[in-house]
Amino acid sequence: MIKVKKRKILLLPGDGIGPEVITEVKKIISWFNDKKSLDFEIDQELVGGCSYDKHGTPITDEVFYKALESEVIMLGAVGGPTWDNLEFSKKPERALLKLRKELKLFANLRPAICFKQLVDASTLKPEVVSGLDIMIVRELTGGIYFGEPRGIKPIENGERKGINTHTYTTSEITRVARIAFDLARKRSNKVTSCEKSNVMEAGQLWKEEVQELQEKEYKDVELSHMLADNCAMQLLRNPKQFDVIVTDNLFGDMLSDQASMLTGSLGLLPSASLGAKNKDGEMRAMYEPIHGSAPDIAGQGIANPIASILSFAMALRYSLDLDKEADILEKAVQDVLNDGLRTKDIMSEGMKETSTSAMGDAIISKLQ
Ligand code: NAD
Repeated sequence: MIKVKKRKILLLPGDGIGPEVITEVKKIISWFNDKKSLDFEIDQELVGGCSYDKHGTPITDEVFYKALESEVIMLGAVGGPTWDNLEFSKKPERALLKLRKELKLFANLRPAICFKQLVDASTLKPEVVSGLDIMIVRELTGGIYFGEPRGIKPIENGERKGINTHTYTTSEITRVARIAFDLARKRSNKVTSCEKSNVMEAGQLWKEEVQELQEKEYKDVELSHMLADNCAMQLLRNPKQFDVIVTDNLFGDMLSDQASMLTGSLGLLPSASLGAKNKDGEMRAMYEPIHGSAPDIAGQGIANPIASILSFAMALRYSLDLDKEADILEKAVQDVLNDGLRTKDIMSEGMKETSTSAMGDAIISKLQ
């Protein structure tokens, strides 16, 4: 049974630019504590390469148990060339995989938002992406990446056969679909469910179960079904037709990467991985920017903290039920961009270049 103490936030800055961007998140959490009297309890621990350097493991048992007891985990990023040659079990990324697996974070939420101020960063025409705001919900712990049987085996004539199995059960489908429907209710009330029901039985089951759930519990949410290959095409043709897209692990892997690139900059995009709610309605969740540890710019004070700050806005909205505070924070980010403030990665002519910490400070000044 999940035992989560309310409002406990565990910061895991990690490696490279992780600590730089999480420092800005910490400033914002402290602002909410001081100015809005929110009683967030913050703890901070090592994870990834820095944990390996100190403890010989990418995540210690102590940190793992702290994560189990936290309602919200805010991760920076892990990894870097220093640790590239470690054996598999010691690699920084193992910490993330362990957290995702053991905390049973089965739903990955990746918004693709194209700020109108940054529309030129996209490779698509401005009118196609300007103001884009979609959410991809990817199933994260099932499907072909985990299905059995799997492996490579010898067959006749000296040939070999590679096997992976695409499987989904009713409960695996409905728990992630429920997250998509609940999210849609907080947004534009529209869900598009993607599968390949034309050629895969598991896809057919996916479609039927999502449809049945909508008819039973979410009649107020508009649901449409789309084949995943068509969805890939529609994301490029007319991405603004979507609100929430829900799909399986394999298709979600690809569609979420495709959608994130519609918006142009890695330094801006947040993500959330959510687990199941317990009977008290409490849920485990991990929030992180989609970018990595960016070793090429680490230590220079130029990393863009917006992806991490927007990840915290997601935590306010989806874990802490503080929608109003999430709105305020997202608006502060917009206001700062409107003022022409830019970190180096999103800098363009006529704008004002700023550092990581000055960007965090500017967002806080807009919160005031
Ligand atoms: P990366 O996302 O770290 O960097 C790609 C490029 O984008 C770099 O040029 C970097 O400078 C830039 N960039 C990324 N985030 C930025 C930000 N916030 N502000 C400004 N510029 C930013 O991807 P990579 O270079 O492929 O990976 C570097 C390391 O990060 C690797 O060790 C990789 O394994 C790890 N990684 C970790 C995670 C994670 O922790 N979730 C995710 C991806 C990669």
